Amino acid sequence: MARYTGPVCRLCRAEQKKLMLKGDRCKSDKCPINKKRPAPGKDPKGRAGKRSDYGMQLREKQKLRRIYGIQEKQFSLFFERALRMSGITGENLFVMLEKRLDNVVYRLRFASSRSQARQLVLHGHVSVNGKRVTIPSYLVRPEDEIAITGKSKNMVIIKDALKEFGKSGVMPWLQLDPDGMKGKFLVSPRRSDITDLADIKEQMIVEFYSK
Ligand code: SF4
Repeated sequence: MARYTGPVCRLCRAEQKKLMLKGDRCKSDKCPINKKRPAPGKDPKGRAGKRSDYGMQLREKQKLRRIYGIQEKQFSLFFERALRMSGITGENLFVMLEKRLDNVVYRLRFASSRSQARQLVLHGHVSVNGKRVTIPSYLVRPEDEIAITGKSKNMVIIKDALKEFGKSGVMPWLQLDPDGMKGKFLVSPRRSDITDLADIKEQMIVEFYSK
């Protein structure tokens, strides 16, 4: 399936949730979700019918997939891996998504959005344990050091992202050295640690794939 190239704010409006896909704009008054515009194709007076269980499960899956910026095929492969792991499938899925290199680069504040982080990885601006890695879906491990490579440290978008977002700190399973433009993935998070996505109902995603 082709990567979605339309207006990303439309995706948030479809889910009626801030998916934080556009960096600083998401935190500004320009975010259309703040203006409470109806979802695309939805009755502006809110007379839309009730969603089926399947419809709600589908929406939950789409929400999580879009937050992490992953295409359908890869998302379902992630789900299959989560299913084969011991433990709770929905939680395994979340933890694996958090370990993706593009997500870690975003969480370390080197990029203002996950899509920008993905571009940084693809273009060779990121290393793991001193080795350049250009695969956004690469899964980092505890104690891995993630850094911006050599001359890429001069890139304005990285400096701006660190300046803008570095102030708010990083998630507790990460450690950031903003001056050195490097960070560490300390431990695998638990589902309950991923507080900014606490409203995602992963059990519904498990039910979606169990059909
Ligand atoms: Fe657009 Fe960001 Fe607002 Fe989503 S959260 S609607 S991507 S500005």
